[in-house]
Amino acid sequence: MYGRDVQKIECKNHVVKNIGKPLYNKKKNSSIHKDIRKNLTGTKIKEILAVVQKCIIFNACGDVETLKTPLKNVPNHVFEKHSNCQIYYCSNVSDALEDFAIAEACGLLQLVNGVLDNVIRKSHKLIDNETTNRAEMYMEILSRFNVGKRQNLVQRVSFETRAYLSGLRYNDGPAWHGSPWKSIVGYSPEYYLKKIFVTLEQIETISKNTVRQFNNPLYEEERKNRLTASNFGIVIKRKSKTLCHNLVKNLLYPKYI
Ligand SMILES: [Zn+2]
Repeated sequence: MYGRDVQKIECKNHVVKNIGKPLYNKKKNSSIHKDIRKNLTGTKIKEILAVVQKCIIFNACGDVETLKTPLKNVPNHVFEKHSNCQIYYCSNVSDALEDFAIAEACGLLQLVNGVLDNVIRKSHKLIDNETTNRAEMYMEILSRFNVGKRQNLVQRVSFETRAYLSGLRYNDGPAWHGSPWKSIVGYSPEYYLKKIFVTLEQIETISKNTVRQFNNPLYEEERKNRLTASNFGIVIKRKSKTLCHNLVKNLLYPKYI
């Protein structure tokens, strides 16, 4: 059902990112008291993020209030007051209350509590332990199909078609075009490759049968579908920025035969 009844679900990765970002910014901000910046180490920030993730994972699809309680306790745990800690994120048995007192006195504890408030308020949206990983993966594929939006592809439903193709690529992996190609054209993409493939015995037979080169009609027939030594240089030296359609045209339809 659409409309007012739709409930928004938050992505766990983004929520964790939104805790880390303000904490790292506050650490760099020189207008914040130096004691706070000194005690808010990179290790502490990483620990906060890890514990928040563990809480969300452990309480996935459970009760919202049981998720809120450990989240509220995260600053206490990180600043070494473990009396209310849960076993799934904390194995410390003794407290280091002097560290906790320093963090509380300089205002660091209140600062971390303030940042975590945003997560605690979103607890009901985080309870499903969901991420946007799949959507991000699809959008990454789509951005390759629509050439990073550098061209206007809206006309003639090009964009829409590319979105459908991205869906096929997402579902079936790199070999996604094999079966649609076969159902439309009637043969697999390997058809032409198989057609020009020759065994070692065939190579020897062709070599014997095409002596005298241009005086032999079979020689011209055999070289039609092949990249011969005289053209190999042009192909291998072609710059990647030069378009290849003229080269292909010259190879397939030479002016002088
Ligand atoms: Zn603890």
